[in-house]
Amino acid sequence: MHEIVVNLHMHTCYSDGNGTHKDIAQAAIKTGLDAVIVTDHNVLVQGLEGYYRVGPNRVLLLVGQEIHDQDRVPQKNHLLVFNANRDLATLADDPQALINGVAEAGGLSFIAHPRDPEAPAFGETDISWEAWDVHGFTGIELWNGLSELKTVVPTKLHGAFYAYFPQFIGHSPILETLTRWDELLIGGGRVVAIGGSDAHAMHMSMGPLHRIIFPYQFHFRTVNTHVFIPQPLTGDVPSDKKMIYDALAAGKCFVGYDLPASTRGFRFTARGREQTAIMGEEIPAKGGVTLQAHLPKPAEIRMIKDGKTIGKWKESYAYTHIATEPGVYRVEVWRNYLGRKRGWIFSNPIYLR
Ligand SMILES: [Zn+2]
Ligand SMILES: [Zn+2]
Repeated sequence: MHEIVVNLHMHTCYSDGNGTHKDIAQAAIKTGLDAVIVTDHNVLVQGLEGYYRVGPNRVLLLVGQEIHDQDRVPQKNHLLVFNANRDLATLADDPQALINGVAEAGGLSFIAHPRDPEAPAFGETDISWEAWDVHGFTGIELWNGLSELKTVVPTKLHGAFYAYFPQFIGHSPILETLTRWDELLIGGGRVVAIGGSDAHAMHMSMGPLHRIIFPYQFHFRTVNTHVFIPQPLTGDVPSDKKMIYDALAAGKCFVGYDLPASTRGFRFTARGREQTAIMGEEIPAKGGVTLQAHLPKPAEIRMIKDGKTIGKWKESYAYTHIATEPGVYRVEVWRNYLGRKRGWIFSNPIYLR
């Protein structure tokens, strides 16, 4: 398995972002990403997918969309759609019909910013997901860079502080979203977690001050989705695209907050009597399974089974747990950065059956 770093969920001037696809590709190359997935609101921008190059470096730019019912009051239920290869925004008024439509088109659907609170100081409303009776979606956006910002800006002054010191924003996925994910997993569902930036490259003006806040490059250094594909990217767009979407659909990925330190190199694997498994895979519990997590740098590792922490190891590079009971096992890693403990890695589960 080969690890690639993907930043997903971002907006261009085709919706409410302020950059172009080319700006995004250049920023992605500067930050060393392997691929980006652009998701403008309610429009599938055609003809811009492919490899973009600067000198010897390249990035694969893919295009999906973020769909919601624009007539709904209040605005809720944003869905990220990848690989449907046709515009499905006409199905937006019925979340279940939309999810079904994505599946029929061979695409992937992820509930965007499941919990996204209001930020009244900036006139931003709560745009959480509300249609929790839906089924058949691929997964959820566990960590969204912009929802998290909304949790830390009670006043305009806070907004100004974070505009200049955005490195202080990132803390962890919103806890309600983490709890919701565990509940869905305990309920027997396969629910893939991804991390999205929701990058817009917004402009901000306060009196004489004017700047682009949270430029694409900043987002690309923060919450990324690290994806495991069977072989390195080849440069052939259709086959590389297929490898990435197959891996995301299967949950062969983890969410990494790469700002404190790169999360590249994290592994979570299972070894049973007769087979092995990685994140997103299933393995029989019978006879015992050795679960192993490896980190690129020492940090606090937590093993979670069915939503409950069953082990915690401080300042460790690796951790081994012998599991004998069926359940959904996942790993969280936390580390100290800028004066507080922050989430660093959130693995997808390994399913012991
Ligand atoms: Zn959204
Ligand atoms: Zn968005």
